[in-house]
Amino acid sequence: LNPGVALGIDLGTSGVRAAVVEKKTNGGVAVLEEASAAWSDAEGRRPEVWLSKLRETLKGCDQLAKVERVAVSGTSGSCLLVDADTGKVTRGPLMYNDAVEPSSLIDAAAPPGHCTRSATSALAKLLHWARERKLENEVICHQADYVASALASTEKPVLVSDWHNALKLGFDIDALEWPSWILERCLNADERNTLTRLRVTRPGDVCERVVSAEASEAWGLPAGVEVVGGTTDSIAAFVACATDIDKGALNVAAGDAVTSLGSTTALKLVSKTRVDDSSVGVYSHRLEDNWLVGGASNAGCRVLRDFEFTNDELEALSMGLDAAATNTKGIYPLVSTGERFPYNDASKEPVLPPRDGGDRAAVLADLLVGIADVERLGYLALKERGASPLKAVATAGGGARNPQWAAMRSNLLGVDVVRAANSDAAFGAAVLALRG
Ligand code: ADP
Repeated sequence: LNPGVALGIDLGTSGVRAAVVEKKTNGGVAVLEEASAAWSDAEGRRPEVWLSKLRETLKGCDQLAKVERVAVSGTSGSCLLVDADTGKVTRGPLMYNDAVEPSSLIDAAAPPGHCTRSATSALAKLLHWARERKLENEVICHQADYVASALASTEKPVLVSDWHNALKLGFDIDALEWPSWILERCLNADERNTLTRLRVTRPGDVCERVVSAEASEAWGLPAGVEVVGGTTDSIAAFVACATDIDKGALNVAAGDAVTSLGSTTALKLVSKTRVDDSSVGVYSHRLEDNWLVGGASNAGCRVLRDFEFTNDELEALSMGLDAAATNTKGIYPLVSTGERFPYNDASKEPVLPPRDGGDRAAVLADLLVGIADVERLGYLALKERGASPLKAVATAGGGARNPQWAAMRSNLLGVDVVRAANSDAAFGAAVLALRG
């Protein structure tokens, strides 16, 4: 990371978070301050709420005068149309999980298994708006692009996206251009303009999006601060987890991975080779000189809640966990039928220990070895599709709070497993800005 002070802003599903982060010349990174504001699902669909909650959040920060760079992350696939001259919202937003009617144009033109084929892709949303009403002098942008533009300028929009957000809009992250199958086969002239007015930059790069004097007044950031290329909320969280706080470095070599043990289990692995397999929901983002391959299982810690373990119980009953345990009972800890990764199997049934088994510690041990085995199978599934071999895992999510479980997972995976020091996506966005 480069020495300096950066502000990271993450627009998540439940609100906005900000972190002011400093990289000192003599080493580590330190969080100078953090602030946040929550929104309801309904509020989180309103661009004016993104801005008003961000204003509220930044009012709670008193280190903004030190900030040299800003990066914004947002929910992936959340997008809207704005007027190219005024920046006023003309359509949307449609959020990350909003599905639109599939487009026969994408169906006919997109490569097999391409992520734009999904009913929630940003490209599908653009074509949905184009069907609804002719596009006029509009630009498509993502949630993060919209907010980054508003931070830089109160007058004229500065709409720049990044390789990560633009993936679901169809941007070719190998060739770094809009592919001809979109420009020539999916869009007419107005629609093409709506897409290509959006520039796409490398995440973390300066991109001529600079805080103006008026915007400086409005936000309390110094004029001239660079609002660099942003990212998605989940990649920002990955970057946070991959940050070595003491050395002020980023662990993003091939084989570095982050497992998020939340309600579900999400894996992200840095790989020399790109892996995409839509049949199991696996796709790759471009991360510096490597690829960031991701997959997510439906199985995860939600089952612990289903079995009514409290956090205190989880801690106490994990004390005696056998680090050498393997999944001899074939536990598969889903809470309902159906799995998407490591296998795509809509009829896959949970395999669980008996609920009324008297020994709660034994039941917990079975569930934890079952989840750990899903993690092992997940990394194996990525390796089988050609991803770089796993070298080290950092852990995020509620399950990261369990050192005994980490020891068991380390044995099953055959690599070191550590708890991420900071998994906050706003911190990750700030680190990205310091990385440059
Ligand atoms: P989400 O909010 O999506 O459920 P979290 O990251 O907050 O995700 O994770 C909460 C999950 O972590 C819960 O399902 C809980 O069972 C689990 N959890 C909390 N503490 C522990 C622990 N000590 N060991 C294992 N799992 C834990």
